[in-house]
Amino acid sequence: MSEVIQIVEVGPRDGLQNEKAIVDTDDKIAFVRRLEDCGARRIEAVSFVNPKRVPQMAGAEEIMAALPRRAGRSRIGLVLNRRGWERAVVAGCDEANVVVCATDGFGIRNQGANVAEQQAALAEILALRQAEGGPPITMTVSVAFGCPFDGEVSEGQVVDIVAAAAALGIEEIALADTIGVADPWTVRRRIEAVRAAAPGVRWRMHFHDTRGTGLANAFASVEAGVRVLDASCGGLGGCPFAPAATGNIATEDLAYMLHRAGFDTGLDVEALVETGRWIGEKIGKPPVSALSRAGGFP
Ligand code: ZN
Repeated sequence: MSEVIQIVEVGPRDGLQNEKAIVDTDDKIAFVRRLEDCGARRIEAVSFVNPKRVPQMAGAEEIMAALPRRAGRSRIGLVLNRRGWERAVVAGCDEANVVVCATDGFGIRNQGANVAEQQAALAEILALRQAEGGPPITMTVSVAFGCPFDGEVSEGQVVDIVAAAAALGIEEIALADTIGVADPWTVRRRIEAVRAAAPGVRWRMHFHDTRGTGLANAFASVEAGVRVLDASCGGLGGCPFAPAATGNIATEDLAYMLHRAGFDTGLDVEALVETGRWIGEKIGKPPVSALSRAGGFP
């Protein structure tokens, strides 16, 4: 039996949110269905942000309504605050992923809230779930390796945020390299530090390949014992702070690398390449994944 590594597909959310082209709601629904047919079991499908501010993420309710609950499949909704949480509950998300930025600079510009305010929002959401029920809640710490506004992000900043969240009962936390500035050695040290600070938590890592270190960072994470990684089909997305940059690490490239090493992701790499081409046509941009150019092996 090969060891399982779970890849959380973030193409419909992080990928499409950072593309210029606006994808129709029907195509977004088809994208989620196709990704599930590729074997994706957890998909960040929607974001409950204000569609006036983020037009790419419009239609969250319609997308969820078109995706009836399916055994063994989890559709995750991204949530920034109480309003987003309430929408995610009504829409029937299987999980809510709450974002807390590691820096005030990013938080204020991106979400209109500093770190303390975002932590208060997280606590409020967790209290609401305790009182009224709702889907499981995970957290992503964005700009956990560097911030386009505040610069370097220290290990201590990240440790403080995850320790506080773990104390509130969060079971899964992702460290996100939002702008693609992490290196594999820092990744390893940071994982060791957060694990020591919050030993009961399941860790998930989220990398962007903005500067070519994405797969190396994923490797370092797996070597450090992490078994859940985010990726986007076709390497969809970009970086709002580096206009010409590529997006998340590509799901097919990550799955290929892990399969070659003997890990099981449950994903069909060829089908992912096809799906990456399909969504690439929708946004008018071919996929950037290596597999879409080179093909798999054997
Ligand atoms: Zn991201």
